[in-house]
Amino acid sequence: VSTECVIYVRISKDRGGGGLGVARQEKDCRALAKRLGWKVTQVYSDNDMSAFSGKPREQYEALLDEIRTGNVTRVACWHTDRIHRTPRELEDYIDAGDLHGLVTHAVQAGPIDLSTPGGKAMARTLCTWAHYESEIKQQRVRAALTQNAELGKSHGGRRPYGWKPDRVHLDPVEHAEIKNLVNELLAGATLTGVTKDLNDRGVPTVMGKAWNRSMVRKMLLSPRMIAKRQHHGQIVADGNWEPALPEQLWRELGDLLNDPDRRKTPGNARVAMLPGEALCGECRQPVSTKYNGRRYYWCGTCGLWRQQEPIDAYVNGVMIELLEDAGTEPAPVVDLAAAAEADELQRKIDATKAAWTADDDPQDLLDVLRPLRAQLAEATARATPPRRRRLSAGLVGPGAAERWKALSIDKKRANIHEMIEIRLLRKASSDRGPFDENSVVIKPRW
Ligand SMILES: [Zn+2]
Repeated sequence: VSTECVIYVRISKDRGGGGLGVARQEKDCRALAKRLGWKVTQVYSDNDMSAFSGKPREQYEALLDEIRTGNVTRVACWHTDRIHRTPRELEDYIDAGDLHGLVTHAVQAGPIDLSTPGGKAMARTLCTWAHYESEIKQQRVRAALTQNAELGKSHGGRRPYGWKPDRVHLDPVEHAEIKNLVNELLAGATLTGVTKDLNDRGVPTVMGKAWNRSMVRKMLLSPRMIAKRQHHGQIVADGNWEPALPEQLWRELGDLLNDPDRRKTPGNARVAMLPGEALCGECRQPVSTKYNGRRYYWCGTCGLWRQQEPIDAYVNGVMIELLEDAGTEPAPVVDLAAAAEADELQRKIDATKAAWTADDDPQDLLDVLRPLRAQLAEATARATPPRRRRLSAGLVGPGAAERWKALSIDKKRANIHEMIEIRLLRKASSDRGPFDENSVVIKPRW
């Protein structure tokens, strides 16, 4: 009985997952349910001509009611953007799912456990992109663009990567590559890493050649990405083309790529995890690596040297512990007052839910929960530095060890950089013998 699930499908004109019909969505969802060992008890199907029509979806509303009463605890869908069309709808869905626990599994996006902070963060990220794309598509139908297309053509010159030859409309394949680049970089990948990935996969530039780091960097930092015109390095006007990125993400990316710490990061494939990251305990300078039969961390100023391998292993262990704990209790944060406020709000939310009985109107409960959740999100944002929260969002909680081990060294470094400071202490004479945890000082950065 506990493995019963329902399927939700939706057809829409604007984004059908490539015009994917409900029959095909249902077929894929049934195959997914079978793989998961879930028994499909019902299919909810909406015919929705536009994600932005604001038209109520009867079947969706019925599904939400079943989720609120606890009759439905598993939902299979083709993609999460089939279920919620806007970030606001997603929050309602999360609220409803919170009452009895809800697992959503998407053919395209995988399992999303909305009972965990990581799952919620994942759902919100997916939803932000989907919503953004809907807005772009809505904008596309505006007649103005037809005229702008002609203006765009008159510019001449090379077609910018990401746009069709008219220089106005996005090319879906290239736009997907741009979004992927942004996601990877914001998640801690390096420019060198993402450039190599493009070339390894044979993704061509507009000229049909291979990519290099500075091309990728220049492309992503160009105001063209957010549909702004630039003259002598200054943004001077709105462009007449479809933007490829939300402005907020583009600005974050700019901060990240212009960070001087990042520029001096060595680009070659790294074997050691901590060069440039761990500090010498005596000079407070970042250590580099040296190879002498074994790999060492080495301080060029005072000559301190330490064997690399046991230190990397120790730091990996500390990170996994921190990430696992972060899932069960709030991590210590800069703003302790805001954290206390968030705790208090969470208690209020829990108490409100505990007081709720099946006879009460779920809408009343949601009316109380919604403002509390908004306050909670706001307090949590104040309490936690945003970049660390985003980096670790998908990592925290049980199973952190597996997820950590699967990360590339670049991403591990990015998370380490946000979360801890590492100082290597000098050892008396030799660095041989058993590893001593006291010889590595680790301080959380909050
Ligand atoms: Zn030193």
